[in-house]
Amino acid sequence: MKNQDPTGTNLLLGILGNPVSHSLSPNMQQSALDALGIPMRYLHLPVEPDQLSGALDGIRSLPFRGVNVTIPYKQAVMPYLDQLDATAQEANAVNVILNDHGCLIGYNTDSAGFMSGFSHGSDALRRGRVLLVGAGGAACAIVAGLMRRVSAITVVARDTPKAQTLLNTVGAAQHCQTATLPWPVTPAMIADHGIIVNATPIGMQGFSVDRWLPEHATLTALHTCYDTVYIPQDTPFLVEAKRQGAHCIYGKAMLVGQGEVAFQHFTGQCPPHGLMQTVLDASLSLL
Ligand code: NAP
Repeated sequence: MKNQDPTGTNLLLGILGNPVSHSLSPNMQQSALDALGIPMRYLHLPVEPDQLSGALDGIRSLPFRGVNVTIPYKQAVMPYLDQLDATAQEANAVNVILNDHGCLIGYNTDSAGFMSGFSHGSDALRRGRVLLVGAGGAACAIVAGLMRRVSAITVVARDTPKAQTLLNTVGAAQHCQTATLPWPVTPAMIADHGIIVNATPIGMQGFSVDRWLPEHATLTALHTCYDTVYIPQDTPFLVEAKRQGAHCIYGKAMLVGQGEVAFQHFTGQCPPHGLMQTVLDASLSLL
């Protein structure tokens, strides 16, 4: 990749967010760096909101090659950056920043990470009517990834104007119909879409709510159910989807996918095949 730093003078990487202590990105990224003998250290970088600007100045001036960005700063960092590449502009969010000799460039690898959960040439994508649950930052990256590959995307969210703004921001693709529907999700919505994606924290370990799928919803073998939540792996949504025979895609696929593309931005190299997945599985098994 063109921003590779072959001199190796930028030796630090990290994940910037609040909180970040729970993040599994350091395990995945550091393992891949070590496996390839790349002398970089990947750090946890917890940052308070009123210190975000100063933290980015630090990334610019200290020997940082780049950082991942996580909740709650994926949009908040954008005004401080010097450039946004097309992926960040389309998803309207940044989860990777490269420090190119003092020039901070924002990227989004969540879209590519999400899409990597689908197998190559996936039939599900070709059938392509997507019900997307949630309208936050992850949903935006997901719409950017799906827009040119499916025939319809319906966003169902508590805040329908926010969902409409999300669709307007990402922009239309010629053959993709878009719509918003009000909360809550209904059995009719599930019946009317083949790909069901959860992009809310509902079902995540420690979150106050664990269910958004309506009780009488019918899922079939023709449904593909994708939960972006990855702790636990078996969310209540995916447990039910599996019980009813639907095809399930786990949130860890997106996490590994975004991490692999981020690693290529940071180092100009691909991580060893399957390593991040193995490290993530080992880390998840300890939780
Ligand atoms: P976000 O920007 O805060 O958006 C969260 C969305 O969920 C918003 O639409 C929010 O609605 C909705 N929501 C939250 N609680 C709800 C509830 N009780 N009932 C109905 N809707 C609710 O967060 P995000 O960055 O999009 O992340 C969302 C989730 O995606 C995360 O929790 C994480 O598990 C997952 N994620 C996974 C990966 C991965 O690599 N696997 C990457 C990124 C994110 P309001 O706007 O009304 O609050």
